[in-house]
Amino acid sequence: MIQLNNITKVYKTKNGEFTAVNDVNLSINKGEIFGIIGYSGAGKSTMIRLLNGLEKPTTGSVIVNGEDIAVISGSKLRAARQKISMIFQHFNLLWSRTVEENIAFPLEIAGIPKGERAKRVDELIELVGLSGRGKAYPSQLSGGQKQRVGIARALANNPEVLLCDEATSALDPETTESILELLLDINKRLGLTIVLITHEMHVIRKICHRVAVMEAGKVVEQGAVLSVFQSPQAEITKKFVSQISDSNETKESIEQILSNYPTGKIVRLTFIGQKTEQPIMSQLIKQFNVEVNIVHGTISHTTSGPYGTLIVQIDGEKENVEAALNMLAQHEIQTEVIEHA
Ligand code: ADP
Repeated sequence: MIQLNNITKVYKTKNGEFTAVNDVNLSINKGEIFGIIGYSGAGKSTMIRLLNGLEKPTTGSVIVNGEDIAVISGSKLRAARQKISMIFQHFNLLWSRTVEENIAFPLEIAGIPKGERAKRVDELIELVGLSGRGKAYPSQLSGGQKQRVGIARALANNPEVLLCDEATSALDPETTESILELLLDINKRLGLTIVLITHEMHVIRKICHRVAVMEAGKVVEQGAVLSVFQSPQAEITKKFVSQISDSNETKESIEQILSNYPTGKIVRLTFIGQKTEQPIMSQLIKQFNVEVNIVHGTISHTTSGPYGTLIVQIDGEKENVEAALNMLAQHEIQTEVIEHA
């Protein structure tokens, strides 16, 4: 659906050249929700502008639906861009127009006749859960409702790709959840391809199928969300993953655990997908005659299944503890023994 081949974007600035995107290769499948995560300055916004054709790459190609949007221009580019729609962090609504009029705006530009427009606007209002609010002005709406208008407007001309530029970053956590649910629902119902940029890992966890991690213009890691969560490779990815999975797990709390449980082995187990920890724990106890204490646990849910970490103390005869650890490794559970520093 979307293919970025060896994309580099160099900006010319007063102080010389600056490489904002550096040799990026990405391939985004039709119907998937693809997340690009990175801290400020990583190059995410530049990527979005390259994807919607607002910016041309210095080198490389941006193939959308078989067409290189980096080389086309004029009416061909306009036609290609009609298939790509966007929502924004600060909504970018027209403040002097009502909800209905905001949603109708792209339809007017596309020359859709009035009657048809009204029908489409009604459908869209219903789709995003704003029934009854059509005559309201943006200033009368909550943040979440404003983003719903943004989403309805973005969907008006039946795009194939929806780009989301930090679409939930200005919203409180509860509203963020409801907007992410709406995006998931639209992705499923319409089969819409969604590409989002964010600096928040919980957004990736909640709705993305695959993720690319950007740092200083480069994609340092990419893959299925569950596998990135299970075994993040790059340091920056580990930091993002720890934003959610280990939120209560600090160096101090680990030291505390180690001093509270001075014997046996303290082990961090990572479970992904449908595997549940319960049967494995009881098997450990029965089969190896060890004592297992659950010290700390978190579980998160991704679009492809649950992901959890559990810190346990395994105590008993040394060989039994070793045998138990071996068994865990054979179950393809990621096992990490935590020792005193
Ligand atoms: P992000 O969205 O991840 O914060 P950006 O893509 O906005 O990152 O920016 C990446 C880097 O490129 C930043 O250091 C930024 O200053 C620089 N940059 C972005 N746009 C321009 C531009 N038009 N001219 C010069 N430098 C730019």
